[in-house]
Amino acid sequence: MNAELRYEAVPDSELDRIRCNNFDDFGNAVVSRTSGGGEPLRCCLTVAGAGEQIALVAHRPTESGGPYAEVGPVFVHVVDCSGPAEGFPIDFRDRQAVLRPYDAAGQMLDGVVAEPGTSETELKRLFEDPAVDTVQVRNVVAGCWNFTVRRQG
Ligand SMILES: [Zn+2]
Repeated sequence: MNAELRYEAVPDSELDRIRCNNFDDFGNAVVSRTSGGGEPLRCCLTVAGAGEQIALVAHRPTESGGPYAEVGPVFVHVVDCSGPAEGFPIDFRDRQAVLRPYDAAGQMLDGVVAEPGTSETELKRLFEDPAVDTVQVRNVVAGCWNFTVRRQG
């Protein structure tokens, strides 16, 4: 089985709400800062270039709730951006990452640490297990969520 995968950023509806209200869904004010370059952006799944206007906001990547539904900090563009491109986000290809799988009930399954350049291959391997419903790609040290992966369709 070689499932086509979908790579999900922070949903447009949530980004619209945050940018309109100037607060995230957890009551934190949106504080614009100028990027020094290198922050992973969860609105368009790119890495910020120096000089871009970004903000750190709180996001809960698991819509269904439950004990594993953590809220964590994510960088986003302060103003509307183009959103993510199709396919695996190129800017995240050469980063080390934690790949954390969940089943359809939101329970965490066995994850892996993917070395730089191996996330895409490791994701395909994880999705060979039919019990895996979604996989969250996270930073290794801080554990922050980068994006969610699921099967197409
Ligand atoms: Zn963006």
